[in-house]
Amino acid sequence: MASQEDVFKKLVAHCKEYGFVFPSSEIYDGLGAVYDYGQNGVELKNNIKKYWWDSMTLLHENVVGIDAAIFMHPTTWKASGHVDAFNDPLIDNKDSKKRYRADVLIEDLIAKYDEKINKEVEKAAKRFGDSFDVELFKQTNPRVLEHAKKRDEIHERFAKAMNDNDLAELKQIIIDYEVVCPISGTKNWTDVRQFNLMFSTEMGSTAEGAMKVYLRPETAQGIFVNFLNVQKTGRMKVPFGIAQIGKAFRNEIVARQFIFRMREFEQMEMQFFVRPGEELKWFEHWKQFRMRWHQALGFGEKKYRFHDHDKLAHYANAATDIEFEMPFGFKEVEGIHSRTNFDLSQHAKYSGKKIEYFDPELNQSYTPYVIETSIGVDRMFLSVMAAAYTEEQLEGGDSRVVLRIPPVLAPVKACIMPLVKKDGLPEKAREIMDELKFHFHCAYDEKDSIGKRYRRQDAIGTPFCVTVDHDTLNDNCVTVRDRDTMQQTRVAIADLQKMIDEKINMRNLFKEIVK
Ligand code: ATP
Repeated sequence: MASQEDVFKKLVAHCKEYGFVFPSSEIYDGLGAVYDYGQNGVELKNNIKKYWWDSMTLLHENVVGIDAAIFMHPTTWKASGHVDAFNDPLIDNKDSKKRYRADVLIEDLIAKYDEKINKEVEKAAKRFGDSFDVELFKQTNPRVLEHAKKRDEIHERFAKAMNDNDLAELKQIIIDYEVVCPISGTKNWTDVRQFNLMFSTEMGSTAEGAMKVYLRPETAQGIFVNFLNVQKTGRMKVPFGIAQIGKAFRNEIVARQFIFRMREFEQMEMQFFVRPGEELKWFEHWKQFRMRWHQALGFGEKKYRFHDHDKLAHYANAATDIEFEMPFGFKEVEGIHSRTNFDLSQHAKYSGKKIEYFDPELNQSYTPYVIETSIGVDRMFLSVMAAAYTEEQLEGGDSRVVLRIPPVLAPVKACIMPLVKKDGLPEKAREIMDELKFHFHCAYDEKDSIGKRYRRQDAIGTPFCVTVDHDTLNDNCVTVRDRDTMQQTRVAIADLQKMIDEKINMRNLFKEIVK
């Protein structure tokens, strides 16, 4: 069986070969952690965004959208804490000239001790068979105890150094435990420095005094600074939410794993404003709603889990991630955070404006608390592709690669194919296409054998192939082939649109989510 790493490599290659994702400016050898979406990728991405947007704004009459600019007044980022604290600690190896995140090097070191312990346990389990008591073994085996002691020691020093922002101590841990650079194999490290992840640029000509502005590292602040605008003009009553989809930029130090960690990416965020004291109830509500949104796609419950944060950001009083099982393990796709009234209060303080809500029911003014749901479009895209990518052995020794993308998200919904390129079949196929194209995205293909054409559509995840044959001219029926079951059914042309719509319309998923 292919290893997970191989599967991931194949998936990346497939994304490129079939027009989903290309490296940015590839003819110049690409740009680190920046990607372009191709002709099929953009359709899938747009469908993901629509699925999210409609689930927020159609299903909730108290959630409205905005589209804020990427550039914001620089004080925004002072107030939000990003100028001072949106940092990662970095360290360079002087020999390989490679850059690492010091915290990640230490986390990997801790993981190595965990691995060592697991290996001892596995070995012993084999030796002792059924009578093996894991807990007893872990509490008594001298080698395991020694590894556990080391791991706890490092963990304790690491947690303290991170909390105290003690960069010298982070380096000392790396030195004391002899962490080597995986490339050069040496321990020749620079000091640890804080690295701010925000990109900056200049706005205005230098003659009139240029201003340093940032490319937003999250979309959320565009919502906070517009809180009063939306609340007043929309006459919104707490609780209510503001949703937004847009680009965000982070100068990630180590950018690996394809579109999982990018320097330019897209977020779908919703801030839900509530009465102080009711935030944990709403936190639970949105946690469940967001999980149902994911699960309605049908990849199976086992693919998802919640991961609660042990260490909360100073402004948060509850936080959890929705993790998805990627080919490289369970990874965060979405964060759900209870952010208290931190952001609105900070913006009130820095702008000198009163940012409050008068609650007519309580007859009192307050700064609302916020529940945020924040999901990366690109990570969602990757999770869909990873779960959809399937290599299948067929009867008769044949094989196929099929993307089992949920039909509601598939880039192309139906491909119309005349069996042969003559006898009036192409004209009939075009006639069908000309009607269906008003309803959903269709493709037309008349080249090569039907078998080859099916494979091409399987590879981009098209749920239906519609074949026009000689009988069609007499009975006005077509053969519809299902992507997943490969079963073929005869359908009247008059029923085609309704039949396909039933499978690809998001309304069925939405009904499931709000149940
Ligand atoms: P991580 O710990 O993986 O860096 P984060 O906790 O910093 O992520 P948030 O700030 O909570 O992420 O951002 C919300 C969402 O935005 C994430 O769940 C993820 O889907 C997406 N996201 C964040 N950073 C990136 C990135 N560099 N590339 C792609 N998506 C990202």
